[in-house]
Amino acid sequence: MSSESSSESEVKNFTDLNLNDRLHKALDKLEYEMPTPVQAEAIPHTLAGKDLMVNAETGSGKTAAFLLPILQKLVTNQAPNSATRALILLPTRELARQVLKHCNDLMAFTHIKAVVITGGAEFKYQQAMLRKNPEIIIATPGRLVEHLTRNSIDLSDLEILVLDEADRMLDLGFSEDVLRIASASPEQRQTLLYSATLNHKGVRQVASEVLSEPMNLTLNRVQDGHDSIRQQVVLADDIKHKQRLLVRLLEQENAEKTLVFCNTRDQASRLAAVLKYHGLRAAVLHGEMEQDERNRVMDLMRRGQLEVLVATDVAARGLDVKGIELVVNFDMPRSGDDHVHRVGRTGRAGVDGTAISLIKSNEWNLMASIERYLKISFERRLVKGLEGKYKGPKKLKSSGKAASDRKRSESSRKNSSKKDGDKTKQRHRDRKSVGKRRAPSASNQDARSDLGDGFAPLKKRKDKEQDSE
Ligand code: AMP
Repeated sequence: MSSESSSESEVKNFTDLNLNDRLHKALDKLEYEMPTPVQAEAIPHTLAGKDLMVNAETGSGKTAAFLLPILQKLVTNQAPNSATRALILLPTRELARQVLKHCNDLMAFTHIKAVVITGGAEFKYQQAMLRKNPEIIIATPGRLVEHLTRNSIDLSDLEILVLDEADRMLDLGFSEDVLRIASASPEQRQTLLYSATLNHKGVRQVASEVLSEPMNLTLNRVQDGHDSIRQQVVLADDIKHKQRLLVRLLEQENAEKTLVFCNTRDQASRLAAVLKYHGLRAAVLHGEMEQDERNRVMDLMRRGQLEVLVATDVAARGLDVKGIELVVNFDMPRSGDDHVHRVGRTGRAGVDGTAISLIKSNEWNLMASIERYLKISFERRLVKGLEGKYKGPKKLKSSGKAASDRKRSESSRKNSSKKDGDKTKQRHRDRKSVGKRRAPSASNQDARSDLGDGFAPLKKRKDKEQDSE
């Protein structure tokens, strides 16, 4: 049984939350003036001890929404002889490091200790850290299960379990591990599940097993997108044309930091090389890179020493880098949800941002279906001097009508010729699959492996650890 809440919160200011002075001091230092909507809704219920299912995006302030009440509980009810008291499970190493940083900022004036336990780091070193019984563990599920199996972790005192980015975590094939971890922790614990969408089969199933009478907090649906982001499309003829467009757009936008998304590792590496050739401070981030190299690139980006980061979805999942003013889809993402995750890297915490998608003819239908899924219409942008031959589907060109008319044009094309039947079916499937992950095909082998465990069956997850842990 779950109850719903989507009403406007009574909480307007951080002072309404009655948090410990040490936490207020940290909030002042971070210059957080008032709680974001997810914080205003979720913090009071978490402090009241409820199990929660919250649909909140990266960028909404969700991390502090679960960290602040955890810290409040740990500061007010001290238990020096306890083993670990709070465990945050999340899908990727980068997100783990990011949450640790956020946690360290918020608990800067307390004596609480938090550690990160993920793949890609030395097991023995982690065992030594765990022996010190840190109050908070931030972990990816695979490595945590290894510690459970080798008895190097004690969850018997766990008070709060958080499943952060639960949809992503389960897409990566971690549901068995999450269930195993939940069953190793006390039944009377509090469990908080955060996910971009709650309407996800895996999330609902895991929630039914690990949460107890949860309250559903419906804040913003993934389709609501981000109001502070301008979304544009530029039509392109081919990859070379896209490369020229990108270089020109980077000049025109003059953004301090830009994130460019590609669907494959190869494409990302090639593109980063092209951008460097054009004198831009660019680097690539993908799941096959060594963890140290990934960390180094992220640090350069955070410190503003890179202008452009070319990334694949898996590597950039959930990343919170301040000051990304521009996001470019060099390749159109394969689902509406991926699109939202990508463009959400800009326009964070209410700051304006721009997202530009470069569209070749074979990406038009995908773009149109993402528009329908998100109920938005992308603004068409022309790049002077670089206009290509491709101007959109023929029907549209002659009618000159807006995005809402595309549907008719597509359906008339669908009926137009029998010999086009197979292609049409493929397009139709593309539209239907927007908002969902697409099944792999032999031809997108590279793309599939870069998207990591999202496509892999459960038992294959270990092969893809590079991308997920
Ligand atoms: P998150 O959704 O947790 O990834 O947070 C997105 C960004 O918003 C992070 O950079 C946070 O530091 C920032 N943030 C979180 N809460 C607040 C707040 N109440 N006021 C201003 N910024 C915030």
